Amino acid sequence: MANYDFDIGILGGGAAGLTVASGAAQFGAKTLLVEKEKELGGDCLHFGCVPSKTLIRTAHIRHLMKNAGKYGLPYVDLRPVDYGEVTKRIRSVIRVIQEHDSEERFCKLGARVEFGNANFIDEHAIRLNSGIYSAKNWVIATGSSPFIPAIEGIDKTPYITNKELFSLTSLPKSMITIGGGPISIEMAQAFNRLGAKVTVVELSGQILGAEDKDMAEQLMNILISEGITFYLGSMPLSTKDLGNERELVIKNAEGRTISLRAETLLVAVGRKANLQGLGLEDISVERDIKGLKIDNRLRTNHKHIYVAGDVTGSYQFTHAAGYEGGIVLSNAILHLPKKADYTYMPWCTYTDPELASIGMNEKRAAAAGIHYSVWTEEFRSIDRSLADGDEAGRIKLLLNEKEKPIGIQMLGPRAGDLLGEWVAVMNGKVRLSTLASSVHPYPTLAEINKKVAGNLFSGKIFSEKVKKALKFFFSLKGRACG
Ligand SMILES: Cc1cc2nc3c(=O)[nH]c(=O)nc-3n(C[C@H](O)[C@H](O)[C@H](O)COP(=O)(O)OP(=O)(O)OC[C@H]3O[C@@H](n4cnc5c(N)ncnc54)[C@H](O)[C@@H]3O)c2cc1C
Repeated sequence: MANYDFDIGILGGGAAGLTVASGAAQFGAKTLLVEKEKELGGDCLHFGCVPSKTLIRTAHIRHLMKNAGKYGLPYVDLRPVDYGEVTKRIRSVIRVIQEHDSEERFCKLGARVEFGNANFIDEHAIRLNSGIYSAKNWVIATGSSPFIPAIEGIDKTPYITNKELFSLTSLPKSMITIGGGPISIEMAQAFNRLGAKVTVVELSGQILGAEDKDMAEQLMNILISEGITFYLGSMPLSTKDLGNERELVIKNAEGRTISLRAETLLVAVGRKANLQGLGLEDISVERDIKGLKIDNRLRTNHKHIYVAGDVTGSYQFTHAAGYEGGIVLSNAILHLPKKADYTYMPWCTYTDPELASIGMNEKRAAAAGIHYSVWTEEFRSIDRSLADGDEAGRIKLLLNEKEKPIGIQMLGPRAGDLLGEWVAVMNGKVRLSTLASSVHPYPTLAEINKKVAGNLFSGKIFSEKVKKALKFFFSLKGRACG
């Protein structure tokens, strides 16, 4: 048997790589973790989830201050935002989480951490700095980077991506965001709430293309009411640096050419897998249109080289990266064959209100040819929503022909957190009658989950048939009013 330096080597110290490294080391595997940046943590910690959610919270507080009157409070004289102070807070949150993702912690767990750019020299070995490291199994967990579309002039126009967004030195007066996906929409609302004038340009006819159109439109209308301008069905044609401003020329949905101007141009049109420079061509790792060709156990054509996280090109979320890390551990370290199953992969766009999803929505059910029924409940019917002043949004429950839940879409306050109950219901195959009859604390937003499930049964319980039966057996006397 070949004698390798390590049982497992991992390229990339983000959510996926850290999950594999921590699990493998704790199972007793000799583990090597390689990260090309100076610190572990990856995009989520440094340029993604953590800074964006911290910024969103700051923007939310400012929004509440601006709308103090709605809560019976005196008007607040809002000063302009000092973005330097905002980024200080972002950095302080990152610093705390960074300790959890530190080299020392991984060393304590038993994993060796190396920093630098690695490339494969054969199917089991990499060259890193001036050394060669071999491992029985390898995991490519190198994440993704912003995709930059080929817009005329983009190479000569200053623009930013999520990499620069959280370290700007001042708040832009105005911002054009190219793209209508989650990153663009979350940041559009946050910057608008902080005081920037924001315009969103999206190629397709709706924002958040993976979501049902009715839910995405309801959210978009809220964002419009807050002052964001949208150009849907609009194609960016060219861009130019005008000195203090950038110009973006678009062809709008009616075919007219329009010139938009803003201080800052944010490009957020999607992500591309980080595969360059790894030497994968030299060891004949096969590719497909999404990136690397992998099977459902996340193995490449070389069965000991696994892929996890954003670099797979499928569900680009931190929790998906963690899940895939677990699949790799099961297959590579525990030798328990396990396939990745994304049926109940949840996600959430952290706008206000949040838009969360698990399983089928109407779009996906229709595409899969599934017959479904839709049950809804509005947040304005939930007492806590009214008390909180967060009454916008609703929940949509999709049932299949056997009245089993196949998906949930939720637009509303804390929808991402509220979805947790459905994560348990769907994965645990809990009966809707159990959810509908479980006592939920009052007044909580989670009552919406019980209520939408209850809608399915209330028509059956309070039916004429039941009334007649009760009258027959127990001589109930019927209506007491009109
Ligand atoms: C603005 C923004 C907001 C987001 N918000 C959320 C959110 O709210 N919730 C959510 O679930 N997801 C969110 N995401 C997505 C989330 O950040 C990613 O899905 C997650 O980081 C993927 O983890 P990963 O380990 O695959 O990649 P990463 O976290 O990017 O880690 C990959 C690591 O590999 C390293 N690397 C790259 N090339 C090499 C190499 N050649 N050798 C060694 N190391 C290498 C990189 O430096 C990086 O550290 C957000 C993303 C962005 C951009």
